[in-house]
Amino acid sequence: MSATRDIKDFALDIGYSQVGITSADSFQDHIDAVRSRGEVYDFFVADPRQLLKGAEPMAIMDSARSIISLAWDYAQKDFPETLLGKVGRVYQARCYNAPPDRINGARYQLMLDFLAKMGCEVGKGIFIPERRAGARAGVTTFGRNNFAYTGKSGSFILLSSIVIDKELEYDAPTYKVKCPKDCTACMDACPTKAIYEPLKLNPRRCLAFNAFWTQDGRPLVTSNIPPEIREKMGTRVHGCDVCQEACPRNAAKLKAKYPEDPFLVQLAKEFSLPKMLEMTDEFYQRTIHPIMYNYITDKKYLRRNAAIALGNTGDRQHIPVLAKAMEDSEELVRGYSAWALGRIGGPEARRILESSLKRENCGSVMDEIKAALADSSGSL
Ligand code: SF4
Ligand code: SF4
Repeated sequence: MSATRDIKDFALDIGYSQVGITSADSFQDHIDAVRSRGEVYDFFVADPRQLLKGAEPMAIMDSARSIISLAWDYAQKDFPETLLGKVGRVYQARCYNAPPDRINGARYQLMLDFLAKMGCEVGKGIFIPERRAGARAGVTTFGRNNFAYTGKSGSFILLSSIVIDKELEYDAPTYKVKCPKDCTACMDACPTKAIYEPLKLNPRRCLAFNAFWTQDGRPLVTSNIPPEIREKMGTRVHGCDVCQEACPRNAAKLKAKYPEDPFLVQLAKEFSLPKMLEMTDEFYQRTIHPIMYNYITDKKYLRRNAAIALGNTGDRQHIPVLAKAMEDSEELVRGYSAWALGRIGGPEARRILESSLKRENCGSVMDEIKAALADSSGSL
């Protein structure tokens, strides 16, 4: 058998739903597209990990010859109803950047080990544009919502690429948009109109981006989520699936019945937004870390998202936990809890905001409290 066949057989045997192979040539179309978007993607170009350089694998690894594109269907088990609308499916599935001591990371590690045993040199730290690689390797097509699709799994796939030094047999590209003519369901459904044209996304308007990329210390972004975006986040604390849920290409997948995931069933029983705002170490380790370990390493951003979600419930039963958060040592938590109290409104929320303002000495939190008092003066 050929090396290409061996690699593909092994990938399918360990659970990948599709595998394809393309050359390690540059993704010049990706580089041009990102650069042409100017300030919309400035944070991406400025990222110290040199994310755009990954589109030129041979500039990083002289010996690069082939890219193996692997698709894993992460929607093979049921997602608990109480977590949907709060945590994106890909995160519930615990597959995105999974560490090697977890099942999904172990699968990827098995693939790396197999390639090493074949005598392949494997590229490290190369940020391949996964969706372009998937299409060039014949694994995926594009959706107008910018997601990659495979026939049976829809867009609920995790794509991974591995760069190796061996020349293999390359698959025919499937570089096309396979959406029904005139369909705009994803664009219509997006709460913030982040998909401003077919195949064009403004990440700064995307709820998923706002939930996890907005961290201080990253180039050209801060932890400040604009109030108009906060309102649209609803109870989503990590990820957003709206434009995938609206998509007819996902209809069969969304309708299908899958077995329960016992781990998620248990986690869903323990998950709560008030507890996420309070975030004890034990709650973090047991309930939050398994599904939100990627992107955010400082808990204060997760707590910020929980405060926003609690505010968006509009439920006055959450006022006590938000009042407690107004005494928290984290400025970010106090600031967003103030916003949440303003959003919930009512005399009790006003009383807490006014008394918090008297003792607050952080400028940004004071601004949030004043804005909460002013913006919601009608409801408070
Ligand atoms: S993930 Fe959510 S916010 Fe982002 S483009 Fe899709 S629907 Fe819009
Ligand atoms: S909703 Fe319609 S336009 Fe958007 S990705 Fe799905 S099929 Fe394509």
